[in-house]
Amino acid sequence: MASHFQGRLREAYNAMSERVLDLMQGEHGVRQSLDSALLRAREWVMTVNELTHEEADDLAATLRREVDELSATLVAAEEEFEDWVETDLLFAEHRAVECMLLAADPTTRDLMRLKEMWTEQMAQLIREGDTVAAGAYECVDCGEVLHVKVDDDVLPACQACSGTVYRRIRSAVM
Ligand SMILES: [Zn+2]
Repeated sequence: MASHFQGRLREAYNAMSERVLDLMQGEHGVRQSLDSALLRAREWVMTVNELTHEEADDLAATLRREVDELSATLVAAEEEFEDWVETDLLFAEHRAVECMLLAADPTTRDLMRLKEMWTEQMAQLIREGDTVAAGAYECVDCGEVLHVKVDDDVLPACQACSGTVYRRIRSAVM
């Protein structure tokens, strides 16, 4: 995975991955799709790391391909478990970029670890009807954020899309 990048290109690749993840996580509160994040990260990394257009294109194309491959792996891993949520692509892609940052040079063994991480991630999902602590919960399907004001409240279905699966999000404004 990206092993053909060495030295400054390797550094730039890692920087680009981190930038993409930041953008997808919603810098300034706006979550971006993988493609728009990649586009911006490409411009950014070209300036900061002084890359040529060709180098930046190569990095971006490689990152896109690896995220695709890893997303597919993660979704396939998910399907091994019954009663798992249908994962939207943005969610899987987001996790894929996160995972890639943690595994610089994944082998099969690393991929197994990623699957385990993914399993853990999925296990942390919360469902309609679950009793939860006060905090912010994001609908996995549409991204709508639900603010739970008191502890031991029961999560309703999403008001926007009737989705039933949430994940807890950090540092939300109450
Ligand atoms: Zn929703």
